[in-house]
Amino acid sequence: MIKILVSECLYGERIVRYDGKENRLDDPRFLQWKQEGRLVAVCPEVMGGLSTPRTPSERRGGCVVNSNGHDVTNEYTKGAKLALAIAKRENVSCVLFKLNSPSCGSKLIYDGSFTGNKIAGQGVAAELLRDNGYQVYGEDDLDQIEKLIMENER
Ligand code: SF4
Repeated sequence: MIKILVSECLYGERIVRYDGKENRLDDPRFLQWKQEGRLVAVCPEVMGGLSTPRTPSERRGGCVVNSNGHDVTNEYTKGAKLALAIAKRENVSCVLFKLNSPSCGSKLIYDGSFTGNKIAGQGVAAELLRDNGYQVYGEDDLDQIEKLIMENER
């Protein structure tokens, strides 16, 4: 069975978002995959030791900083490594991560100025997973994941 590593905020069983809000993905396909036991939920930021809610952070150069100017690179790196270890342990085939996050973003991220401006880039965990050969999708890529499942399990 194709298994998928997913952002825990999309999975929806626990509040993990930095602002304490919900981010549950309710697309029927996602809910079916969840029911089938395909989804392995991780929150790299919480696994890295950060609390919920937490001060928002953005990537800036090679670091991650929060809006108070505190460097949280170590927490982000630790969480990314743990997410990778779980992806390997659970033998997932791909990754479905929340868009725009400094950990999970796979296409755009905020530019480090805390002004809401986005640039091409990826989150720390998404980058590490890609560097290790995993395809990382966003929540707007469900068609591609559906195709992957159908091609491998038909
Ligand atoms: Fe969601 Fe990823 Fe942010 Fe955790 S780190 S709240 S899983 S986007």
